[in-house]
Amino acid sequence: MKTTDATVLDEPKIRRRATDETIEPAIESRLRPTTGVKEAKIYIDGKFYSEANAKVSVFDHGLLYGDGIFEGIRFYNGRVFRLEQHLERLWNSARSICLTIPMTRQEMTEALLETIRQNHLRDGYVRLVVTRGVGNLGLNPEQCKNPSVIIIVATIALYHEDFYRKGLSIVTVATRRSNPASLNPAVKSLNYLNNVMARIEANLASADEALMLNDAGNVAECTADNVFIIKHGQIFTPPITAGALQGITRSVVFEIGGEFDIKVIEADFTRHDIFVADECFLTGTAAEIVPVVKADGRLIGNGKPGPITTRIIARFREMTHKTGTPIFD
Ligand code: PMP
Repeated sequence: MKTTDATVLDEPKIRRRATDETIEPAIESRLRPTTGVKEAKIYIDGKFYSEANAKVSVFDHGLLYGDGIFEGIRFYNGRVFRLEQHLERLWNSARSICLTIPMTRQEMTEALLETIRQNHLRDGYVRLVVTRGVGNLGLNPEQCKNPSVIIIVATIALYHEDFYRKGLSIVTVATRRSNPASLNPAVKSLNYLNNVMARIEANLASADEALMLNDAGNVAECTADNVFIIKHGQIFTPPITAGALQGITRSVVFEIGGEFDIKVIEADFTRHDIFVADECFLTGTAAEIVPVVKADGRLIGNGKPGPITTRIIARFREMTHKTGTPIFD
């Protein structure tokens, strides 16, 4: 919803019959805090709203069709990590789905930094969403004249520290990563049902994450993370063409590999290569870099996070705390 008037969002327009006071508001206005931020402020199209009042139209095609794009961004120690890269990817996603982001990159940067400031956090997670905007019930995006920009700041702890010390267990799921010719995983779109289906399978199998293959049976990625294996001192990750997102954390691993003089190679591989790998880890903004110690019931290496993974995690943490776009100065 393009919000020029805060009252549009403040009061859900429901028609109440005089005799029926029990009809609930269309949108729950007594939400428990979901951002983890006390008195959170959420940005929608240039204005800030409380969690309870941060609402979009039921006619937004982001809701009706998953038509829109997003980024998950982290900030550490008062600096936004890799902001430029995230905005670059957002603009690429927009271009790919013919969506015009209704502001410049500089304006987006300022809106994002200001939203973090309004939430008084030095460490946290930002969800930046651009929806196609309000249209009618038909799917034609030409109906949607005003894309909406939403910025949510939250506290985050995706995995408990134990997972970083002990490692995750993953399972290969039957749901294949969507074919780039139908819905390209390189576009970070609001249409995540493919990933959600895989996540459900991981839950049913009591695994920590789902390993998704592409139509050729090669490893693509996990539901929200890129996959890496280490064999004989070299690091391998599937190419983007295998059906992986061009992860920002993934790109940081290439940099760290360069610093450590360890080759990081983009190559197609199968789940067999994971079973026989010396080490395995996942990367993602929310997950950061997390070791994998079990795949489809097989222990990877000796079943403990490996030495190269541990070194990469340490270097990554150093980078996240020392670099980034300053928020407060
Ligand atoms: N793959 C998918 C499907 C993702 O949603 C994400 C983002 N969570 C990633 C990989 C990792 O990308 P990034 O490191 O940029 O967060």
